[in-house]
Amino acid sequence: MKALCWEGVGKLSVQDVPEPAIHGAGDAIVRVRASSVCGSDLHLINGYLPAMREGDILGHEFMGEIVEVGPGVEKLRLGDRVVVGSVLACGGCWYCRTGQYSLCDNSNPQPNFTEKLWGHAPAGIIGYSHAAGGFAGSHAEYVRVPFADIGSFKVPEGVPDDAAVFASDAMPTGWMAADFCNLQGGEVVAVWGAGGVGQMAARSAQILGAQRVIVIDRLPDRLSTAADRLGVETIDYSQVDVLDTLREMTGGRGPDACIEAVGMEAHDTGPAYAYDRIKQAVRLQTDRPTAVRQAIMACRKGGTVSIVGVFSGFVDKFPLGAAMNKALVLRMGQMHAQRYIPMLLERLANKEIDPGYLATHPLPLQDGPRGYEIFEKKQDGCLRSVLHP
Ligand code: NAD
Ligand code: ZN
Repeated sequence: MKALCWEGVGKLSVQDVPEPAIHGAGDAIVRVRASSVCGSDLHLINGYLPAMREGDILGHEFMGEIVEVGPGVEKLRLGDRVVVGSVLACGGCWYCRTGQYSLCDNSNPQPNFTEKLWGHAPAGIIGYSHAAGGFAGSHAEYVRVPFADIGSFKVPEGVPDDAAVFASDAMPTGWMAADFCNLQGGEVVAVWGAGGVGQMAARSAQILGAQRVIVIDRLPDRLSTAADRLGVETIDYSQVDVLDTLREMTGGRGPDACIEAVGMEAHDTGPAYAYDRIKQAVRLQTDRPTAVRQAIMACRKGGTVSIVGVFSGFVDKFPLGAAMNKALVLRMGQMHAQRYIPMLLERLANKEIDPGYLATHPLPLQDGPRGYEIFEKKQDGCLRSVLHP
């Protein structure tokens, strides 16, 4: 079958690879119908996350059709149209039983040096390097889904593939970002990053009770799309001072909650560089947490800073003094797909959240490399390229 493979930093190509097979009793094989690019792939492609190997298949935000199941699968049937959460969870460990699925103890079969780097091995994630289990990704005709009963959810009838696909990642991540803010109603929420994740965080904050949502980016297309589609206010950080502007917009107090949906490749400062104690050809320290810094500095006293942008190694000049003296609540993490996807599919079906507009560039799998180039350079109004094997 054809698959989009990582061939080294910045290099992608479509290759012929063997079809996946059932390994564990709880596995399913999904024929991929739609597989989206995500900002997280940029960290992998550009070498900011450890343990990618040449030939690894990318892709983790996807939906498709069940074509084979292992003997232990009970819930799923052949032909089911499902959306799959990429962060794998066993469903039975203490973390899974307490709803903290992305911290699952049993879904990463390859514990490795990240235990030293992060104090713990992460959960397994489909298409997300050998640090996260080495699972082949979804930019392929077929993909193996371990723990399939726990992480696959039937798409309601009438929801098109190119909207359902975002219930895999952008929607649950955005929802978790807003959920972390513990909104009571009436708040002002600022969101850094107008990508798919930031826009879904903005919509989720509205649903969860925010009175005003302010989205910050420097890409005019994305800001105007967010304003038109979601009715949010916007700030172009390349044009104005973000801290001053947020203060003015909130009567001097600052937003009640600040969501960071940007991650390691935030713009506007110098290059990231390797942390030399860890002998890996990856960039484990970043001096570009610019959005995190701004979020902490902008947030009102006692407010919440919710970070869903991905970070991997060490971060420089993190304003811990501001966070401490303002008594901020800091929350962060990989999304708990299995906790949020069922509820989000209902909201998708009743159009309370309508993420289909994120699929600006539907493309055949063969055009994957170009899909990433358009996405990375944010050309032609691209929010997400969605690949169709
Ligand atoms: P994206 O690349 O489409 O969007 C990122 C946006 O941030 C871009 O529009 C960019 O212009 C903007 N930006 C860059 N620097 C900025 C700054 N200093 N201030 C404000 N905006 C800035 O990516 P995406 O798909 O929306 O993903 C966003 C982040 O969320 C990534 O880091 C991704 O890895 C992460 N993510 C996390 C999870 C999770 O489980 N926590 C899941 C999915 C994605
Ligand atoms: Zn578990």
